[in-house]
Amino acid sequence: MRTVTLIPGDGSGPELVDAMRRVVEASGAKLQWEVVWAGETALQKEGTPLPPAVLDSFQRNKVCFKGPLTTPLGTGYRSVTVELRKRFDLFAGIRPCRSLEGVRAPASDVDLVIVRENTEDLYAGIEHEVGRDAAESIRIITREGSRRIAHAAFEYAARNARRKVTVVHKANILKLTDGLFLETAREVARDYPAIAVEDRIVDTMALELVQRPWEYDVLLCPNLYGDILSDLSAGLVGGLGLAPGMNLGREFAMFEAVHGSAPQFKGQDKLNPSALILTAILMLEHLNEAPAADRISRALGRVLREGKTVTFDLGGSATTTQMAEAIVAALRG
Ligand code: NAD
Repeated sequence: MRTVTLIPGDGSGPELVDAMRRVVEASGAKLQWEVVWAGETALQKEGTPLPPAVLDSFQRNKVCFKGPLTTPLGTGYRSVTVELRKRFDLFAGIRPCRSLEGVRAPASDVDLVIVRENTEDLYAGIEHEVGRDAAESIRIITREGSRRIAHAAFEYAARNARRKVTVVHKANILKLTDGLFLETAREVARDYPAIAVEDRIVDTMALELVQRPWEYDVLLCPNLYGDILSDLSAGLVGGLGLAPGMNLGREFAMFEAVHGSAPQFKGQDKLNPSALILTAILMLEHLNEAPAADRISRALGRVLREGKTVTFDLGGSATTTQMAEAIVAALRG
């Protein structure tokens, strides 16, 4: 029986994580959870947003499922999510984005994967004030950081029968940082002759994703562009309630949806649990629990197709709990 560290998260996180747990438990997957609290909730209870128990548990179990965590805007503690990604060297953010049958969305036939560098770029968090009226942030891109994320993107493409990697950058303006990212990606591409490679300037990429998303396959992005394009792509297939993700390193793996803690919905039992359920499917595949992952995928697919017990963002009136119960019923039926 595999033990997974479970961080329920802040805001709407715990209720969505509960819904995900019900579905995973009904799937027959052989795993148990070790629950630890981080973020705003941990700060209030334990005086720190990242208690040592969280780090110990993740260090021991190597796999973590994380509900969304709140980060104060402008002031206060730094993002615990970013800190976990850095501390456990979870350098590859992998976010599949697929059109789902039965979901009304701005685009159809979308099947792309965003591979986002998770540890460098502006997220290094090196900022300082310059006098009283200016502030400066340092953007770091390294050859090694670029090499390993490019390698992760091409490896992902090769293993998942993908045909093309598009490198996203702004090397026309950021000639040194994005220039290095692009040059390194092109070098890595030479080791994968069967996979096509192309590149797009990030603003053009945003336009083309809205106009012709079906033409894209794997998008290889530095941290910030990957963050922004993840939400844009989620919007194309029906919203943040349907966007899963995982953060992979050499030794550790952390699974989390693209969306945040949506605190304004806290306690309302209203949000869509699908993003966390799709994230759990990615985790079960990673844990060699493919049959349980397939069962959940089919059950979720059925509930979405029928469209009767879905949450408000999908045009329905079901609560989070009712939608999770419908998925559990489909698993058993
Ligand atoms: P958010 O993703 O929490 O919510 C934005 C909007 O998306 C919501 O108002 C809601 O309309 C919709 N949405 C989100 N999740 C949904 C779901 N499951 N079902 C249906 N609709 C959903 O973004 P935000 O409001 O900008 O951020 C809130 C907090 O979350 C902030 O503190 C932010 O720092 C944090 N955050 C955390 C993570 C993470 O833990 N990985 C990621 C993003 C944001």
